[in-house]
Amino acid sequence: PGTTTLDLDTSSFKGSISINTGLFIGGKWCDPVDAHDHAEIINPSTGKKIMVISLASSKDVDLAVKAAHKAYKTSWGFKCPGKERGKMLLKLADLLERDADQFAAIEALNVGKPYHVAKAYDVMGAVEYIRYFGGWADKNQGNVIETNEAKLAYTRHEPFGVCGQIIPWNFPLLMMSWKVGPALATGNCIILKPSEMTPLSALKFAELVVEAGFPPGVVNIINGYGPVVGQAIAEHPDIAKVAFTGSTLVGRKVMEASAKSNLKVVTLELGGKSPTIVFDDSDLDQALKWTMQAMYANMGQSCVAGSRVFVHEGIYDEFIQKFSAMVQGLGQTAGDPFSANTMHGPQVSQVQFDRIMGYIDSGKSEGATVHTGGERHGTEGFFIKPTIFTDVHPEMKIVKEEIFGPVAVVLKFKTEEEVIEAANATTYGLSCCIFTENISRGIRVAHALENGSAFINSAQLVDHGVPFGGYKQSGIGREHGEYALSTYTQVKGIHVNLGIRL
Ligand code: NAD
Repeated sequence: PGTTTLDLDTSSFKGSISINTGLFIGGKWCDPVDAHDHAEIINPSTGKKIMVISLASSKDVDLAVKAAHKAYKTSWGFKCPGKERGKMLLKLADLLERDADQFAAIEALNVGKPYHVAKAYDVMGAVEYIRYFGGWADKNQGNVIETNEAKLAYTRHEPFGVCGQIIPWNFPLLMMSWKVGPALATGNCIILKPSEMTPLSALKFAELVVEAGFPPGVVNIINGYGPVVGQAIAEHPDIAKVAFTGSTLVGRKVMEASAKSNLKVVTLELGGKSPTIVFDDSDLDQALKWTMQAMYANMGQSCVAGSRVFVHEGIYDEFIQKFSAMVQGLGQTAGDPFSANTMHGPQVSQVQFDRIMGYIDSGKSEGATVHTGGERHGTEGFFIKPTIFTDVHPEMKIVKEEIFGPVAVVLKFKTEEEVIEAANATTYGLSCCIFTENISRGIRVAHALENGSAFINSAQLVDHGVPFGGYKQSGIGREHGEYALSTYTQVKGIHVNLGIRL
């Protein structure tokens, strides 16, 4: 297996970053068994190749599963005390923080995120997440349950053993931390598959796993296409649990593969079409800024994107006028992700660019009005201007489907009841934002909306301690906080006979 050295000379980061191009299995770098599949990794700001990586097949998944089982039996799970697992996770977090500049540069290069945002949000978010779960590693407690005096009954929260983890391209490092943290804290070994488009931060991360001292085979990272490696993980008979983050379409396939193989436990973090609701008694200046954040952060490629904006009719005209001015301002910052002024980068790939432009065309042809944006930015890379559609109705594709790009639809409403019904009229249920200075109303509406998260007078501020996940077709299970531990452990009830005689 080889390495590629990236020499970067940008306004934010100067230096060389070497990246292994192979598979990380059993603590070592190796070539795929069938060493003929490769993927070109593309810089979305330019459309040009960054480097080439090796892709695995199901044979490599088999090897990774064997390595993970060996590690689990010999040196991980309850064989390694929680406080030791915790120390390794804390070290891993420290190492990631040490290398924050490199990781931010990788995310800027491979995903097109503004460098300063990648550093503050993606990299430092991953550091905090792993550190937080390092703290949980020795606090995974069962209960003693009162039964009768002749019996001691208690529970143990035991790891599954070997877990598969499949992640998307929108927050490669952050999504990896959401998977790795709770799985390792609870004593599981993992086989992680990054998106084939954005594997570079995961490959660099593998080096830190070695440096942090994790036994070989505890963490295995293998690149490959979804229908090949992802599918092989989902249907593997010796993987006990799979955690998936990605589209609802593929989430269904993962569940189906589990049902058809060994009924592995499946947790899913899927898509969304989240509502932002702005009442006429909101602090409009703040509501506008947060609505921008909710919708356009990460170029709209965020599962919690507040892509349906409901505005009360009493403030609609003022809102839309100020909102489009702000959105145009954001569009003017589009450019090189390494420039300190850039707030809006490219979409991740040509495929996503085409998909989003297809939705923009569909909105136009269904009669919606492009209020702002609605076209590509520049001539190079996959940039799309931040876009607002008005004059939309609930049956339009752009209102119903997840676009996963910088495209908002803005709708007018009259009453609280009406907006709750409209906001809930979707198959998704990931998140929502509510803006009002009437806190009773804010809480009432948050309770009525069918979403796994609700933000009152803010947006996007997920916290590693607060559960995160979807209602309806946005997912199954929760990440973050103590709730995440329960999705990586199975509960055993133990009955000790203290004196019952037959
Ligand atoms: P995707 O579903 O296309 O791919 C996600 C991962 O699944 C990738 O690693 C891919 O290679 C793999 N995959 C593809 N086909 C597979 C198969 N048949 N079996 C197993 N794995 C397979 O999603 P994406 O385009 O990478 O990401 C965008 C989607 O992810 C959006 O819908 C977004 O809302 C969702 N997302 C959700 C969350 C959340 O926490 N709820 C977070 C980020 C992204």
